[in-house]
Amino acid sequence: MTLVMKFGGTSVGSAGAMRETAVLIQQAQQEWGQVVVVASGMGSKPVKVTDLLLNGAHTAVAGDGETYKQLAAQMRQIHVEAIEGLLEPGAERDAILAENGRFIDRFRRLCQAVHILGELTPRALDAISGMGEQMSVRILAAYLRQIGRPAEAIDATELVVTDDNFQAASPLMDLTTMKVEERVRPLLEQGVLPIITGFIGSTEDGITTTLGRGGSDFSAAILGQALHASEVWIWTDVNGVMTTDPRLVPDARNIPRLTFREVSELAYYGAKVLHPKTIRPCVENGIPLRIKNTFNPAHPGTVIVPDNEAVNGGVKAVTAIKDLSLITVEGTGMIGIPGIAARTFGAVARSDVSVLLISQASSEQSICFSTPDAAADAVIAALEAEFDEELARRDIDRIWAQHDISIITVVGVGMRHTPGIAGRLFSALGKHGVNIIAIAQGSSECSISLVVDGGDTGTAVARIHELI
Ligand code: ADP
Ligand code: MG
Repeated sequence: MTLVMKFGGTSVGSAGAMRETAVLIQQAQQEWGQVVVVASGMGSKPVKVTDLLLNGAHTAVAGDGETYKQLAAQMRQIHVEAIEGLLEPGAERDAILAENGRFIDRFRRLCQAVHILGELTPRALDAISGMGEQMSVRILAAYLRQIGRPAEAIDATELVVTDDNFQAASPLMDLTTMKVEERVRPLLEQGVLPIITGFIGSTEDGITTTLGRGGSDFSAAILGQALHASEVWIWTDVNGVMTTDPRLVPDARNIPRLTFREVSELAYYGAKVLHPKTIRPCVENGIPLRIKNTFNPAHPGTVIVPDNEAVNGGVKAVTAIKDLSLITVEGTGMIGIPGIAARTFGAVARSDVSVLLISQASSEQSICFSTPDAAADAVIAALEAEFDEELARRDIDRIWAQHDISIITVVGVGMRHTPGIAGRLFSALGKHGVNIIAIAQGSSECSISLVVDGGDTGTAVARIHELI
């Protein structure tokens, strides 16, 4: 029986957290036999090492030659504190300290190069931002060895082969499975704990890539698939998936069971607790997925069950994504023009922007869709170029953006069998003066998304949460 367990930033965020994590790893090994650990970079809130790394790179490229040095010092301190808090003085501790120092020096050198060149490619960004997990796994593995559990830190660059889409690379599963079999399987058979970096991979040529922000969850699922794991567990800092982001609504509650489809919608529409790409490798390979709290391990957390299992109806959770724009293409002459939607989204796709929500008025006189706020101007320019003739002929009257909007999404498979959900949502929001700018229903019929003004986000989430 193989269990893959992923520990998020806070779960390895300090010496104390790593100790808790080590206890959980030992218990799992006793129960399951073979345990694979995936870890993120250290992330005691509010300071996440990955953010420090990214910040160093971004300030360096912007011409700031000092900040990255301060960040290097800060990161050195975070790791040295953890190492000294966990490891007994001696040769092993010295070796880990030295190795950690080499990563920090490498960070400084890479930022210096970025600063001098004045250029930060996605490839360089991946090399820099993936170092957090390379540092944390070495510390965790050394601590496990110290407490008598054979463990080996492994960089996922040795295991997870990806395409070269830096910043959001996709795994090549055949090659990955081969490498994992070769490198990880023998360790498991010898009773050694592989402590593997989340977030990173490498191209076939060995260039470091990353799987996208929050991608360590995805790493765990990739390894779970490659090893035909019995289960994948995501350990984080909250009691599983909750009815909404507990930072937005403090009385958010745990959801004991969710279907794969429900958790996909939640993750896709902003519930940061699980990376959306984690789900597919698990669902396609029938691998159960659990989300649990490192700091409250007795709590059962959330189990994700197959879509065909009966689960209770109604609204289960609400999420929000902020800092978006709603772009509208409108004109009375649009009805007659074939392929408007295809051309619209073709132009958007060429701008390399992802669309989270689309809504079309039934009169076909307008199409609207959301993009990240920062991309809105570029998307409008692309659309104006695409439709320059239609604009000149006034078939299309205008292409415009409403900035600073949020998408609020309610999720629950039972919603389609429960009449009147939309009505209850609208009246709850209407009563509190929240104007709904647009609506879209998810294709899987287990979610409804509402577009509201950014300033209404908190109120909208709180009022909808009261209905759950
Ligand atoms: P990790 O470093 O463990 O991956 P993340 O910060 O990525 O942790 O994800 C956990 C956080 O997700 C929680 O602390 C919580 O603030 C946030 N979150 C957002 N939406 C939800 C939700 N619906 N349920 C639980 N947590 C949520
Ligand atoms: Mg995460």
